[in-house]
Amino acid sequence: MSFRSGRHFLQIPGPTNVPDRVLRAIDRATIDHRGPDFGQMSLEILENLKRVFQTKHPVIVFPASGTGAWEAALVNTLSPGDPVLMFETGHFATLWQKMAAKLGLAAEFVPGDWRHGVDPAQVEARLAEDREHRIKAVCVVHNETSTGVTSRIGAIRRAIDNARHPALFMVDTISSLASIDYRPDDWGVDVTVAGSQKGLMLPPGLSFNHVGPKALAAAKLARLPKSYWGWDEMLSANKSGFYPYTPATNLLYGLHEALKMLLEEGLAEVFARHARHGEAARRAVRGWGLEILCADPEEYSNTLTAVMTPAGHDADRVREVILERFDMSLGTGLGKLAKKVFRIGHMGDFNDLALLGTLAGVEMGLEIAGVPHRQGGVRAAMDYLGQTSGTAATLAAAGRRSAA
Ligand SMILES: *Cc1c(COP(=O)(O)O)cnc(C)c1O
Repeated sequence: MSFRSGRHFLQIPGPTNVPDRVLRAIDRATIDHRGPDFGQMSLEILENLKRVFQTKHPVIVFPASGTGAWEAALVNTLSPGDPVLMFETGHFATLWQKMAAKLGLAAEFVPGDWRHGVDPAQVEARLAEDREHRIKAVCVVHNETSTGVTSRIGAIRRAIDNARHPALFMVDTISSLASIDYRPDDWGVDVTVAGSQKGLMLPPGLSFNHVGPKALAAAKLARLPKSYWGWDEMLSANKSGFYPYTPATNLLYGLHEALKMLLEEGLAEVFARHARHGEAARRAVRGWGLEILCADPEEYSNTLTAVMTPAGHDADRVREVILERFDMSLGTGLGKLAKKVFRIGHMGDFNDLALLGTLAGVEMGLEIAGVPHRQGGVRAAMDYLGQTSGTAATLAAAGRRSAA
């Protein structure tokens, strides 16, 4: 690999670009994770995590990729053979369902077309049928990173309530947390799954469970085997800022800094910024005359856009050209979307000009790869970004979306 000047554009939908402040914070001597300095930093982190997760309940940090937090959510709350309801929104939902099946749960998988989110009416109908309340958990991926579709968590909560069903509600927010408004307390989510390498702007290696009171009660009766993932020892050690085993100390330095940055900017501003960049990216795609994979404008993702290439045009070829020529990585098509879509990540540490650079790279790549398209996508994004700022109107629009 030879030297390439300038910063690589890491525009995959996670891992995202790690800001300098976070890199600097990580680049420090590792300290005693049982000593007083660690304990104090760790208590601050655990408090700030609650603010960023918009919850008053505990948030647990595991040294693991997001997949670990999926497992922790299931094994802490459920027992062998428990029926759980899951929805095929895309590749990540499929992986979570496979994991649930491997763990010995009866994981029902409601089929989907990978272009829509979870339909609240379908949730209500399925739960209403379950009169004996056999289903123990409803598991939803908030932002399906393989498709760029965001499910409406508040509406799904109302669907569960309308069916008067007691199932736990678990939500994977790995690619939405700290980017798209998510309110577990308001929306009655019992367990949240999150990861470090997307909206939290950190390298991969940390994952999270927010644990609501109903989940904590379920954990007392849950019989799936667990040791490393056990919430109980973690929660009791965390009370004084410590961990039952060696935490990822240097990633926690980074997390400490990243949380401060998010709170300095303000969560409402962070959400509005992502909403605005999502809209600009979609205007660019329409400007090119290409199709956005997400079929319902109510469910557009603000953190990534999956773009379909016309039949006969390999989306991975476009990605290769862009990497070679412009040193930018875009997300590949996952699972059954392989070669059919490329994904533009616009989450994490990002601003208008970084987005425009990204979109310019895509527009040039489409041209070089010979994908039929119109000129003017970047122009459309520029017009939109030029005419809007992080204004109250944008904030209100973001609010309307997230309240859905
Ligand atoms: C990235 C991602 C995952 C997987 O997380 P890992 O850190 O790779 O284990 C799961 N779900 C969603 C929605 C994701 O975006």
